[in-house]
Amino acid sequence: MGTFCSPALALRHEPDSIPEHSLTADPGCQPGSPLRSHAVLRAIFLYLSQATWAKDLIMRWGFSRRAATRFIAGERLEEALRAVSELNRRGLFATLDHLGEHVTTPDEARRAADDYLEIIDRICASGVRSNASLKLTQLGLGLDDDLCLDNLRRILRKAAACGVFVRVDMEDSSTVDRTLDFYRTLRDEGLHNTGLVIQAYLFRSQADVQSLLAAPTRIRLCKGAYREPAHIAFPRKADVDLNFDTLTAMLVDAALAHGAPPAAADGRIPALPAIASHDEKRINFAQRYAEQVGLPKPALEFQMLHGIRTDLQLALTRAGYPVRVYVPYGTHWYPYFMRRLAERPANVWFFLSNYLRG
Ligand SMILES: Cc1cc2nc3c(=O)[nH]c(=O)nc-3n(C[C@H](O)[C@H](O)[C@H](O)COP(=O)(O)OP(=O)(O)OC[C@H]3O[C@@H](n4cnc5c(N)ncnc54)[C@H](O)[C@@H]3O)c2cc1C
Repeated sequence: MGTFCSPALALRHEPDSIPEHSLTADPGCQPGSPLRSHAVLRAIFLYLSQATWAKDLIMRWGFSRRAATRFIAGERLEEALRAVSELNRRGLFATLDHLGEHVTTPDEARRAADDYLEIIDRICASGVRSNASLKLTQLGLGLDDDLCLDNLRRILRKAAACGVFVRVDMEDSSTVDRTLDFYRTLRDEGLHNTGLVIQAYLFRSQADVQSLLAAPTRIRLCKGAYREPAHIAFPRKADVDLNFDTLTAMLVDAALAHGAPPAAADGRIPALPAIASHDEKRINFAQRYAEQVGLPKPALEFQMLHGIRTDLQLALTRAGYPVRVYVPYGTHWYPYFMRRLAERPANVWFFLSNYLRG
């Protein structure tokens, strides 16, 4: 299994565009090949993203913080709001993410929810064209699921009062069922200002999308950023990409069937489908397919991460699509930063060059 390193694939794909989902070495993968090196680096950085010993060590190094600033907007909300205003000035929307995940006490979970109440307040008061994104393990998922649901409910009620949408990010596969359950529970309570993330690397995602799309559901589609075993997620990049395009088509068809609502001009409510990728082939497919079936541009949103492919973000905005940049900030940048390093070998050299500069 796992053909990331097969010679055929090596010819078809850029080494730095391969988000391997399998950590298992392919029998045909030659030690020393760029694909093998990428697979190994990805495995190492995804492991480090969860290792407390590494976090304690790496966060102490000044150059790590310096390197992380390429991907995060700062440590304080003020800095993140400034970054959002700048994006808005260039015609881009934003979604603010207060970094944090896997809290270890109920108090931490409540404080994380309180921080989101402040974000909502600041979005509403400042008028920036942004909404918010959060992670459920930041609100207590896995620690106390009822507390987590209460925290999310508190945030959504406050956000609904000023028309702000809150995206629930998707974490590793052990959280998917509960994330979908929470979404359905709160929607049934009348809280419609929320939506989910679907990861194209998971085998289950087509079935999940099928069941979610019976009602208009705001879905962000991404490839998936966690370490998943081969019985849960496609090990081969080619399969993830194919599944991404299939899911894109499902989301575009559903958006059309639900009347093609555009992203709100105030930047608070996203379009129904949000294609979250920096992969130009995936983006081109989404554009072509939407055009073919007649989905208007304002109803197809693209999303990218702060600090990655700014040129593409601006080009898509100029072409008439809503584009939203994910703006993370805060002091808990370590796991987020490690996942960004895992995605692209060139980022590791960038990290090391910060070290060499001292
Ligand atoms: C807005 C947004 C929200 C996301 N939310 C989630 C989520 O909730 N859950 C989840 O599991 N994942 C999430 N992700 C991450 C996603 O799953 C991928 O890991 C990540 O986007 C890289 O995949 P890609 O589609 O860009 O394609 P890739 O094939 O990995 O990359 C394509 C090209 O994009 C550029 N690129 C990609 N990543 C980087 C990087 N780190 N640094 C520099 N250049 C890069 C490179 O040019 C690369 O060749 C999110 C991504 C985005 C954009």
